[in-house]
Amino acid sequence: MDQIGHWINGKHVAGTSGRTADVWNPATGEVQAQVALASKAELDAAVADAAAAQPAWAAINPQRRARVMMAFVGLLHRDMEALAEALSREHGKTIPDAKGDVQRGLEVVEFCIGAPHHLKGEFTDSAGPGIDMYSMRQPIGVAAGITPFNFPAMIPLWKMAPALVCGNAFILKPSERDPSVPMMLAELLQEAGLPDGILQVINGDKDSVDAILDNETISAVGFVGSTPIAEYIYARGCANGKRVQCFGGAKNHMIIMPDADLDQAADALVGAGFGAAGERCMAISVAVPVGEETADRLIEKLVPRIEALKVGPYTSGKDVDYGPVVTPMAKENILRLVQTGVDQGAELVVDGRGFSLQGYEDGFFVGPHLFDRVTPDMDIYQQEIFGPVLTTVRAGSYEEALKLVMDNQYGNGTAIYTRDGDAARDFAARVNVGMVGVNVPIPVPLAYHTFGGWKKSSFGDLNQHGPDAFRFYTKTKTVTSRWPSGIKEGGEFTIPVME
Ligand code: NAD
Repeated sequence: MDQIGHWINGKHVAGTSGRTADVWNPATGEVQAQVALASKAELDAAVADAAAAQPAWAAINPQRRARVMMAFVGLLHRDMEALAEALSREHGKTIPDAKGDVQRGLEVVEFCIGAPHHLKGEFTDSAGPGIDMYSMRQPIGVAAGITPFNFPAMIPLWKMAPALVCGNAFILKPSERDPSVPMMLAELLQEAGLPDGILQVINGDKDSVDAILDNETISAVGFVGSTPIAEYIYARGCANGKRVQCFGGAKNHMIIMPDADLDQAADALVGAGFGAAGERCMAISVAVPVGEETADRLIEKLVPRIEALKVGPYTSGKDVDYGPVVTPMAKENILRLVQTGVDQGAELVVDGRGFSLQGYEDGFFVGPHLFDRVTPDMDIYQQEIFGPVLTTVRAGSYEEALKLVMDNQYGNGTAIYTRDGDAARDFAARVNVGMVGVNVPIPVPLAYHTFGGWKKSSFGDLNQHGPDAFRFYTKTKTVTSRWPSGIKEGGEFTIPVME
């Protein structure tokens, strides 16, 4: 059985807490490795070493730090196949999707190559007689990132690359369900030239997360995961005086207007609803057709597409649309929620409950499900299912559809399908959701924009990647400097103002 420890001071280190967690191969249902779960003492020691190494890293000029990122990009490309294989083996997503996971992270590393530009400060020449004023962006010291299982390459890269290039040391606490890829990323960063101790990967669960939140040396914490844990981490991290940003769960709606191209909308819904088995925070989980006729025609188009979905192990390559879900517990929870939908009166139009795959009977596969006539009071609408289950809530009008999206507790992503520019523009302007697609089902912004939801999908005031990442991982220091010909007048006792 493979043992996965921690990455500390540039080396693989075995855990000493005596606690471990099982890492499954979701396609076969086998436990393929055990990952160490760090204790508070292990976390604190790794943070102390990171803090000791950080000043020398911060003193290196930004261009040289950017060159480490440049080399890292090359190594990610070189090892793309191996990274995707390791990712699929622990997560279950298909190989092309796993490559997308690495690629979307890699693009943020590319953005970080521009660090010398992003870290440039501001300068005012002659703010007063003989006075110059300038602002610098300085590293915050030691930052930490706590990441979810569903993007084991992308989200650690979104966190670590900007933190590191800004001159910080970084403590990564990846998901204990798929820890191998984050360890491989650490090895590649070392090969790219990152000094030892600047990136520590500490595997663990709640114990190590609590240790991060209570550690006095860590000054900033970034989290991505489910909303209850996001709220907990935000509250405890802020109470301990840290800068905290937490990204939580989602319930993403797609409005389908009567004038939409319904074939296009149905294709988009199937890809966005069932890709990665629905385990994406930007998956569309609620279709909202406007008008009964639109709804009837949409369901007619969705059913054959969903019934034709190919579900299988990542080893089947491109022949598979989506793979298993991540754990037996995830599978059980999805099927439990499907049952509540049936019990509460939703119409199960495509029933994936009996799904089984020959040769992979112990894998965590879940067949595709489509619900029609879902109402907002049902559990399948209220809760994030995070599985291959698309629900349909019929709306009588555009305003009713918009209100549904606006009233939902989550606000990560949303989309509208229409040929009407006026409706699309109105939707984008009024909806209280962070990322909006117009005829685009999964509107994940590219690396140079920022990523973040509204409402219960995000806590804290800055988004991930793009310019916000450089703000989150730096502090501003403003210097007012006077080199007068001589301070002959003596002290000044009133606050200086510009007249
Ligand atoms: P999760 O909340 O269970 O776990 C996320 C991280 O928190 C993991 O590292 C885990 O070890 C840690 N954790 C779990 N329980 C904890 C506890 N009680 N105390 C302290 N730490 C704890 O999330 P997940 O199942 O790994 O990921 C799926 C969730 O993440 C979904 O809700 C999804 O919508 C969300 N997500 C959101 C975004 C976004 O950007 N908004 C992106 C990806 C995933």
